[in-house]
Amino acid sequence: MRIGTGWDLHRLEENRSLYIGGVKIPHNKGALAHSDGDVLLHALIDALLGATANGDIGTLFPPNDVQWKDAASLDLLQIALTKIEDYRVENVDCTVIIDAPKLAPFIKKIRSTLATALGVALERISVKAKTSEGTLENVVIAQVVVLLARR
Ligand code: MG
Repeated sequence: MRIGTGWDLHRLEENRSLYIGGVKIPHNKGALAHSDGDVLLHALIDALLGATANGDIGTLFPPNDVQWKDAASLDLLQIALTKIEDYRVENVDCTVIIDAPKLAPFIKKIRSTLATALGVALERISVKAKTSEGTLENVVIAQVVVLLARR
């Protein structure tokens, strides 16, 4: 068994789309980033790479590489998964911190999107949402813990 942890933060700005866990969330702001800025998928990729001591997302997808400009993070996740092919995902536990919009209506869709992307059952994917109680306006944060088992 291998355990990994990932963490990411993006600033929210107008005229950007908001993607969380591969789901486009209707909002007037989105994450400022070189890629689509999917904070949850970035933290998940770091957790998977961390569990297998395969470096980090910035090493695998350098932010100054034009190849990854506006990249879909679900595509980045599939590339990252090729680095951990000796392992299968036991479970994933995610926390997203964002003040607005409320994520509750999207949690099931995010869980099913992650489950499909990872090729595991929905029951193995947990996604929780919290607010910062107004202390972190215009910021979205994600924390992910993943447990892997050798195939
Ligand atoms: Mg990121």
